[in-house]
Amino acid sequence: MPAKKKSNIVSKYFLNNVSPFVGLIGFGYWGKNILRNLRELGVLDTACDSNQNLISEQKKIFSGVNFTSSFDEVLQNKDIKALAISTPAATHANFVKQSLLVGKDVFAGVPAKQIAWTCQCGTTLKVCNDHAPCKHCGNEYMLKNGKVIVDLSK
Ligand SMILES: [Zn+2]
Repeated sequence: MPAKKKSNIVSKYFLNNVSPFVGLIGFGYWGKNILRNLRELGVLDTACDSNQNLISEQKKIFSGVNFTSSFDEVLQNKDIKALAISTPAATHANFVKQSLLVGKDVFAGVPAKQIAWTCQCGTTLKVCNDHAPCKHCGNEYMLKNGKVIVDLSK
């Protein structure tokens, strides 16, 4: 049973790591899943987000995790050896750079797939395979990483 074997190896590895050593930067949207997973693995020291409402919300759910809105505080925390970056994709580069400069290991999630786009006419469009046609006005867009690469509108 390969699945069982793998999970034994994972738990052995993490049990041998005495204390939490990971900081999470950004836990809105997809970051919530990363927060939960790191917490379950017992490796999460501190979770950081600029949104105070998110912090209050998650504090109620996750005990034993430090929450802060200060990225500098996480950078200066010597117990934190590695950072998971789960902020909006456009801000990744800056967070990754600053983390590496103070000697942290870094995991940056890939940019989330774009799921919505606002048409010129104001209609919110569903994006499917980077393609967003507007039924309302007939405009049509091809998108890549949040930018229009081809505007198929008339
Ligand atoms: Zn439109």
